[in-house]
Amino acid sequence: MCEVKVLYDGYSVMTGKDQMSANCSCTLIKGDHNVIVDTMTAWDSQKIISALEAHNIRPENINYVISTHGHSDHIGNNNLFLKAKHIVGFSVSFQDEYYTHPFDKGEEYKIDDNIKVIPTPGHTLSDVTVIVKTTDDVTVAIAGDLFERFEDIDNPSLWLEAGSEDPVQQMKNRSKVADTADWIVPGHGPKFQITEEIRRTLKKQMGEETRS
Ligand SMILES: [Zn+2]
Repeated sequence: MCEVKVLYDGYSVMTGKDQMSANCSCTLIKGDHNVIVDTMTAWDSQKIISALEAHNIRPENINYVISTHGHSDHIGNNNLFLKAKHIVGFSVSFQDEYYTHPFDKGEEYKIDDNIKVIPTPGHTLSDVTVIVKTTDDVTVAIAGDLFERFEDIDNPSLWLEAGSEDPVQQMKNRSKVADTADWIVPGHGPKFQITEEIRRTLKKQMGEETRS
């Protein structure tokens, strides 16, 4: 069994000239390993505990906590999960033990036959995406801020303005992830389904970038 449950949809809205309200999508993977991806802000621990409870899971039942990157709204409650291995961007650790994994050479990190973590730099230089094959054979990419939200497919300024440390790499990784996924859970919006049209749009944007 392997299921993906989005516990909270992320969001981001401008609330003033230099101010925004934002929180990340928080996702549970239930299977041979229980995994939580992106743990919201430090003020959300109760929300996470009760959402897990609704799926009969306690924090100590989580085997891996994955933060797609190190920004504060994606790591806020990692310390709820003290039995879990922690993957924050390219960094893999348990307690004070750190494990070297060559994400920087493009190598994926396999959790089990259904769950792997792949390097997808761009938003930060050490972003990762979690690829899940569910029981009904659907591939879900939990992509963090590689995708800000669905609307950023047609309006790239949305992900560019959300901050990109390497826009060219991010564009390539957006297209690569969309090519393999059926659904995407973006960093700051509800999950959406990938269509052939979306794949073509992302490829075209990449082509425009390399020509310019
Ligand atoms: Zn974010």
